[in-house]
Amino acid sequence: MKRREFIQAGTAALGLGATLYPLTARAAAYNVVVVGGGMAGATISKYLRLWGRGQISVAMIEKDAVYTSNIMSNEVLTGKRASISSLAYSYTNLVNKYGVVRVQGTVTTVDAINKTVTYTGPSGSSVITYDRLVMAPGLDFDLMPGMSSLSEYDTLVPHAWKAGAQTTLLRNQLLAIPNGQDVVITIPLAPYRCPPGPYERACVIADWLRVYKPASKVILLDANSTIQAQATNFQNAFNGRYGYKVDYRAGVTVTNLQLIAGANVVSYTQAGLEKTVTAAVLNPIPPQRAPELLVNAGLVSGKFAPVNLLTYESTLVPGVHVIGDASISGMPKAGHIGNQEAKVCANGIIYALLGTAYAVNETSPVLNSACFTPVNSTMASWLSAVYQYSGGVMMPSTANGVTQPRASNGASRDNYKDMEKWFATLMGDSFS
Ligand SMILES: Cc1cc2nc3c(=O)[nH]c(=O)nc-3n(C[C@H](O)[C@H](O)[C@H](O)COP(=O)(O)OP(=O)(O)OC[C@H]3O[C@@H](n4cnc5c(N)ncnc54)[C@H](O)[C@@H]3O)c2cc1C
Repeated sequence: MKRREFIQAGTAALGLGATLYPLTARAAAYNVVVVGGGMAGATISKYLRLWGRGQISVAMIEKDAVYTSNIMSNEVLTGKRASISSLAYSYTNLVNKYGVVRVQGTVTTVDAINKTVTYTGPSGSSVITYDRLVMAPGLDFDLMPGMSSLSEYDTLVPHAWKAGAQTTLLRNQLLAIPNGQDVVITIPLAPYRCPPGPYERACVIADWLRVYKPASKVILLDANSTIQAQATNFQNAFNGRYGYKVDYRAGVTVTNLQLIAGANVVSYTQAGLEKTVTAAVLNPIPPQRAPELLVNAGLVSGKFAPVNLLTYESTLVPGVHVIGDASISGMPKAGHIGNQEAKVCANGIIYALLGTAYAVNETSPVLNSACFTPVNSTMASWLSAVYQYSGGVMMPSTANGVTQPRASNGASRDNYKDMEKWFATLMGDSFS
């Protein structure tokens, strides 16, 4: 959707006089409650306040004290970024500049009939009432075959697919790997968070091994039959274009993980053959799905939440919107996409709450996403996509005869600089 149209939506909303709660009218009641303060949740909290011109009260419930960006977290694994704390984003601007009410707690229950959510915070369990609810909690991760507890991801084999302590653990495991022993990364069947992300991770770790553990290698076991994004760029990288190689094996089904510190055994089948590989460092990226909280609220069909793509309102539970990785949008599960979905959803909610605004039913939203991929410590490639709403779905745009998505022709240092600007702009738009 075009920026001008969003501004029209916010401006049109001004003169309406619909009955809304004043900010302080009753305790723990808000026009909109947002669950999750990540890429999608932080963005919608900000834009509801900005475009709602202060007429819409917004409480954002987030369990963590600060948000830790997944984007760029692969750079922590190689030491390009000194620590995971360099990717921390506070909620101070959302509160001080836009008037978002920030609540720290973990949401445990949604009651869509009575329009309440229950959360557990520092002072115990509390209930908040809403007119509209936005669910933006990201993803949950499944166990891989052979694993007995999700806590094994925290202590033995970090997936680090939600950045934080597991990212640091994986970094430390890489530092400790004996030269000559291998890193194994597994990729789940799509859809998963950030299609190019696992291939990017394989590249930057392989580049790091080239310098610090030159006799070691990365083995990449992909459940998919082909590389899921930027296939040519990654294949060239894996074949040695940037001075390292990645042992890429596609169409793999992992059948068992035997977790042995420093010598994990991965059993898998490929083309009907049973194989095993030993990993000094094992990074299993698990299958992903919408969190149980959404399942319990009746919002999920299959693994994710179906939504009306003009408003991101659930097609299963009225009054509840789902944005970000947990929704089914037909677009990649990416932070940039979550940021864009948040704005379309904000527009739809403003329309619903204030009675009139930009006529969402007549819109044809156009969203875009850029994804930069470091292939080593100085060079990056990119993937860009524009999606057009058409007939109830988001389709790669065909405007101006350009085929979407588009990828860069290889990696460059200039792309790396553009990546840093893109990242700062995206995070600024969501958190500043
Ligand atoms: C290694 C890696 C690299 C990536 N690179 C890129 C990239 O280059 N470009 C790109 O666009 N995307 C990238 N992504 C994908 C991107 O990070 C995700 O798509 C994006 O973060 C999804 O946004 P979200 O708001 O849905 O979820 P999140 O950003 O995960 O936010 C969800 C928030 O909800 C909170 N939460 C969850 N449950 C509850 C609860 N019950 N109560 C309260 N709070 C809760 C969580 O604490 C979290 O803060 C990458 C991902 C990874 C792992």
